[in-house]
Amino acid sequence: MRKLIIGNWKMNGLSSDLDEIGKIAEGIAEFSDRVEVMLCPPMTLLERAAARCRGSDLKFCGQNCHFDPRGSHTGEVSAEMLADAGASAVLVGHSERRIDSSEDHDMVRLKAEAARRANIIPIICIGESEHERESGYPVETVMYSLRVSVPDGSPSHVVVGYEPAWAIGTGRTPMEDDIATMHAHIRRGLIDRFGESGRLVRVLYGGSLNLKNADGILAIPDVDGGLVGGASLKAESFLAVIAAA
Ligand code: 13P
Repeated sequence: MRKLIIGNWKMNGLSSDLDEIGKIAEGIAEFSDRVEVMLCPPMTLLERAAARCRGSDLKFCGQNCHFDPRGSHTGEVSAEMLADAGASAVLVGHSERRIDSSEDHDMVRLKAEAARRANIIPIICIGESEHERESGYPVETVMYSLRVSVPDGSPSHVVVGYEPAWAIGTGRTPMEDDIATMHAHIRRGLIDRFGESGRLVRVLYGGSLNLKNADGILAIPDVDGGLVGGASLKAESFLAVIAAA
């Protein structure tokens, strides 16, 4: 299956950065046969970025959605609105949202179901905190998150992002063997639950992925792509990670 690389701009990006997004869209053309690329700009840029890059292979992704399609939820955005603005996917359960906005696994699952209702791909993020890793049960923690956060029903068009929270924005990553072990557990969990179609779910690694470590990490079995934060903000560094996939 084609690798999937997603750039998550988080709360970064102004209209002056639309040119950078244009450069990403142009730069990925040479990798399109082996890599699918998505970008999560801030909500304020989503529609303009999607319009500007129409015709390119770059796809767009929201960073969060509400689980209702519409209604009295001031400040929220529904999956249907993201689709309407040009998104093909949405991140749900990113650890920054789990921490900043107290999102739990049940809420993340509702958001993933909302994405499916709106015909966009839920990118379901799971991963252990530093404390959970040090407690000695990171695998159990991640497997529990996987069980509760991923909705029932066909897993086609579901993507799972394994992002150890302690590796995000810190420059620290797990050892490659630890990433391999965690991804193998996630794959096994998906197959146990969904049968053979569990093999088709793309499982991405995220957390301080950059041009220096991308070659090694993206070659690990069952790592089907990556979620890139800081290194996706500039076309040059993002394209270097994409080239490694
Ligand atoms: P960094 O690549 O900046 O560590 O962020 C990863 C991330 O949170 C992607 O969703």
